[in-house]
Amino acid sequence: MSVVKSVIMVIEDNPDNMDLVTEILEDEDYTVEGFDRAGPGLDRLQSGGIDLILMDVSLPDMNGLDATRLIKKDDALKHIPVLALTAHAMANDERTCMDAGCDAYLTKPIDDELLLQRISCFLEAPHA
Ligand code: MN
Repeated sequence: MSVVKSVIMVIEDNPDNMDLVTEILEDEDYTVEGFDRAGPGLDRLQSGGIDLILMDVSLPDMNGLDATRLIKKDDALKHIPVLALTAHAMANDERTCMDAGCDAYLTKPIDDELLLQRISCFLEAPHA
């Protein structure tokens, strides 16, 4: 008996954060595809098969929120949940992320349980 595992794209340029998030997700049997730049991640999305995206906001090649705007403007991709990850502890961050089209928002340092809870909520919730 096998269960189809969800595939989660992680776009994060900090290697320590990437390792941590990957470990948390793989421990829960998610398949992780990691990218340290937004551009290659956006290219990969065109091939399909990604169920959810964890998007760092601060990236070397493109702001993660701009990358999210591109995803949400693309009819083939806009259904994919995007969860923003940011270290910025600014009061208006959540509003900024949601305005860019992110489906949820998580602050770093990553809280394992909250991360998994948010992810499972998006992957298991029936579509309205
Ligand atoms: Mn970053």
